[in-house]
Amino acid sequence: MDLYEYQAKHLFGVHGVPVVPGEVCTTPEAAHEAARKIGTTVVVKAQVKAGGRGKAGGVKLAESPDEAQARAADILGMDIKGHTVHRVLVTEAAEIADEYYVSFLLDRANRCYLAMASVEGGMEIEEVAATKPEALAKIRVDALEGCTPEKAAEIADAANFPAEVRDQVIVVLEKLWDVLVKEDATLVEVNPLVRTPDNRIVALDGKVTLDGNADYRHASHTDFIDHESADALELRAAEFDLNYVKLSGQVGVIGNGAGLVMSTLDVVAYAGEEFGGMKPANFLDIGGGASAEVMANGLDIILGDPEVKAVLVNVFGGITACDAVANGVVQAIAMLESRGAPVTKPIVCRIDGNNAIEGRRILTEAALPIVELVETMDDAARRVAQLAAQGA
Ligand code: GDP
Ligand code: MN
Repeated sequence: MDLYEYQAKHLFGVHGVPVVPGEVCTTPEAAHEAARKIGTTVVVKAQVKAGGRGKAGGVKLAESPDEAQARAADILGMDIKGHTVHRVLVTEAAEIADEYYVSFLLDRANRCYLAMASVEGGMEIEEVAATKPEALAKIRVDALEGCTPEKAAEIADAANFPAEVRDQVIVVLEKLWDVLVKEDATLVEVNPLVRTPDNRIVALDGKVTLDGNADYRHASHTDFIDHESADALELRAAEFDLNYVKLSGQVGVIGNGAGLVMSTLDVVAYAGEEFGGMKPANFLDIGGGASAEVMANGLDIILGDPEVKAVLVNVFGGITACDAVANGVVQAIAMLESRGAPVTKPIVCRIDGNNAIEGRRILTEAALPIVELVETMDDAARRVAQLAAQGA
């Protein structure tokens, strides 16, 4: 999960990385009040999960509360790279003598972490990285050793941080490493990390990506979930503990096992070409133990998507045999009916693997008018695409 700047800075604060105080506002009036409380020149900053806000006009200085209110009114509602601005961060403006860049990220290819640092940070860092690679120091950080004081010094010196701030930068690097490790992040980036005219080091921006696989270790990270920008169906699916990703097509897809579901998406997209470009509407892996309830929750989510015109249930029975899955489908449909949301869209089932014959018999005998059984994956994909096209 990527965090907003204000969330990243909250974590910086928790781990002792110097940041300036600020307040998140959703209205121009709130920005006025925040600026009044801060009492100095402030910066009004668009909170969107996209870089380059400065260049897009989403970061503005304001000398007074009235001006902060006016800038917030300009920025709220703005579109930055396809993201609508719902919130602004109003912070005390820092005076900037120099803008630096520092980051830690997971370097999967080299199986280590990578620290990057440059004394030429700021809005042109991509340009610096592309045209002056020697100005961007890249230092490998061993996952087990971590960013020791010696390693932090190596990073600071490789990037040529000036003597006046070297010691502070070293400490900040160690604390940013703490953010990465203690919060289970895969990226921690500060651009710009600034030197003020009185030689203080402050993080003026922050980007943090949290590793979702470690969510169970961080109950407090659920506070970072962004309910207004996230897809409503994805949020509900997360509540059901389902691995669901919303896509933009018309064919709902349920399968067991990520690999099978991914190949199902391909097969559906391919088959859909013949029927006016029908495409998969989602990824949904209901996993190994596909109980009736999980199947019902999955169908519930998929059918909650108004774009969906037909559903493909593609299951390969393994440890959970096909008869259990077939019973799951039948019970799920009954369950949805009893929840007051009867299924009206066609469902194509392809069931194969362990105990497939019994599974198919159960579905055939249930004789549900909306359920159609198709033997192979390719045929099932063609049929569901055809049904989706008819319903579209
Ligand atoms: P980004 O463009 O999305 O990376 O947004 P940043 O938070 O990095 O802000 C962009 C630029 O605005 C920075 O590189 C600074 O030059 C400027 N800026 C941000 N905060 C302040 C501040 O407190 N004081 C001053 N003078 N400039 C700021
Ligand atoms: Mn930035």
